Amino acid sequence: MEGCLFCGIVAGDVPSTAVLDTETCYAFRDINPAAPVHVLVIPKEHIDSLEAVGSSQAVLLGDLIDAIRAVAAKEDVAESGYRVVTNIGEDAGQLVKHLHFHVMGGRSLRWPPKGSEAGG
Ligand code: 5GP
Ligand code: ZN
Repeated sequence: MEGCLFCGIVAGDVPSTAVLDTETCYAFRDINPAAPVHVLVIPKEHIDSLEAVGSSQAVLLGDLIDAIRAVAAKEDVAESGYRVVTNIGEDAGQLVKHLHFHVMGGRSLRWPPKGSEAGG
């Protein structure tokens, strides 16, 4: 999609450090890592967020899950544990409007990530 940063990364117009490259998915290192392992897994086709995906894209969703697990194995966190996060919209702090899964590990991760407010 025109003007989308992650479409630019898929196209190779924006440089990135690849971790995994499949027919439908691409995984690359986050430019501002929040953990020793911080990889972003994205579909090569533009999708705004998880809100825009449905069961009609079950094959692609399966590919993304396979890619996430392959990244975890490749980065050697499959056994030690890792976190998968996808931010959707403003309150979640989604900065890049191209579906992406953060795969984070390599240290003990706190939960919840920040704050514990249940409501307003
Ligand atoms: P979001 O907040 O949308 O869930 O996460 C976007 C992520 O993309 C952030 O963790 C941010 O560090 C990462 N990011 C933003 N711009 C770039 C870039 O140009 N290259 C890479 N590799 N990561 C980026
Ligand atoms: Zn895009």
